[in-house]
Amino acid sequence: MLTNRRNFLATSSAAVLAANLSIPARATAPFAGAVIPVYRHRVGDIEITAIADGYLDLDRQAFFPQVDRGDSDRLLEANFQPTGKAIRVSVNAFLVNTGERLILIDSGTIPGFAPSLAKLPARLQAAGVSPDQIDTVLMTHLHPDHIGALLGPDGKPRFAKAEFILADAEWKFWSDEGIASRAPKDFQPMFAAAQSAGRSYEKVARYLTKNGEVVKGIESVGLPGHTPGHTGYLISSGKDSLLIWGDVVHATALQFTHPEWSIAFDTDQSQAASTRRAIFDRAAADRLPVAGMHLDFPSFGHVIREGADYRFTPAIWRLDE
Ligand SMILES: [Zn+2]
Repeated sequence: MLTNRRNFLATSSAAVLAANLSIPARATAPFAGAVIPVYRHRVGDIEITAIADGYLDLDRQAFFPQVDRGDSDRLLEANFQPTGKAIRVSVNAFLVNTGERLILIDSGTIPGFAPSLAKLPARLQAAGVSPDQIDTVLMTHLHPDHIGALLGPDGKPRFAKAEFILADAEWKFWSDEGIASRAPKDFQPMFAAAQSAGRSYEKVARYLTKNGEVVKGIESVGLPGHTPGHTGYLISSGKDSLLIWGDVVHATALQFTHPEWSIAFDTDQSQAASTRRAIFDRAAADRLPVAGMHLDFPSFGHVIREGADYRFTPAIWRLDE
C-alpha cells in the first residue's frame, strides 16, 4: 500500500514535471529596471534616508582640469569603472528623521538638466513622505544640483511648512548683485536660480553665522571652498554620528587618492582642496562615518588614511529594522 502510494506520488510528480516541461523554459516577465534608490540608515535614534536624485555624466577633462588622464584611467580601472570621456557622478539628498523633526538636506537638481536627474520629488513620494511633512530644509550650498526641488512647478516653495536653514556666507554670496553681475556669463543662470530659490524662503530662513548646533542632534560644520558658505552637517545620537559633507568629493574613484584634484565648479579650488584634505584627516582619525551628495549612492562609508593619500570604504548595507 505504502509502496503503491509512493509510486503514485512519484508518478504524479513526474506528470507535473512533464506538464511543466511543455511550458517554454524562458522568462517572460519584463525587466523591472532599477530599484527605487532610497536607502535607510540609522545613526543612534535618528533615521537617515539617502535618496538618489539621479546621476550626471561629467566630461573628465572639462570638469576636472587638473586631472592627469593616464593617472585617472588607472584609478578608474582599479575601481572597475569605465575609462571613457565622462565620469558618472551620483546626485543624492538626505532625509533625516530625528523623532522631533523631519529634515531634508538639499533637494536634488533643478528640472531640465538631464533626463537622469531631478527625480527627488517622485522618490520622496515613493519613500512615503509628502512635502508638507518636511519641517526643516538644511542646505549645504545653493548650486543647481542642490536647490532643485525647493520650488514646485508653480514657482512657489514646495516645502511650504519648512524652516529654511543655510550658511549666512552662502546666501550673502549668491544674493550679492555685484558678485552676480561680475560672474562669467555661463554662471549667471546659477545666480538667478539660487536667488529665486533663496528669496522664496527668505521669510522662513535662518542664516548660520558659526559652526554649532542647528537643531537638536545636528551641528553645522563649515567646509568652505566649493562655495563660500559650503556647509556639512554632523548628525549625532548616543555614541553614533555621521557627517553629511555636501560636495567635498565629486568623483569617488579619483579624489580620495588625489584630494588636490578639484572640480571646475569649486569657487575657490585651492581652498576646496585644503578643506577636503582637512576633513579627510578628521574623518579618518576619528573613524567618523561620512555621506555625501556626490559619493556613489547610497554614499555612506569611511575614509581611511593610506600614507599621504586616502581611500573610501563604502559601508555595508545594514538590514536591521
Ligand atoms: Zn553638487
